[in-house]
Amino acid sequence: MNNAGHLLPNPAVGALCMQWMRHSNKPGCKCAQGELHGPYFYQFVRVGGRLHKRYVRQADVPQVRAAYAERRRL
Ligand SMILES: [Zn+2]
Repeated sequence: MNNAGHLLPNPAVGALCMQWMRHSNKPGCKCAQGELHGPYFYQFVRVGGRLHKRYVRQADVPQVRAAYAERRRL
């Protein structure tokens, strides 16, 4: 079964990154008052020798984080 779109837990490179988002075109949104959206998680994965930014679903965050912690320990 080739499940290439879902490689967890297999962090190739880097670390789990966290990002808070602010709309650039929504002056009425709460983020305009400093309440940013998120956090959104992403990681960089190596695919065919190239780095890709891949978003991590909220549900997968603990799994990815554990995988990185495990690798760091080795
Ligand atoms: Zn917003």
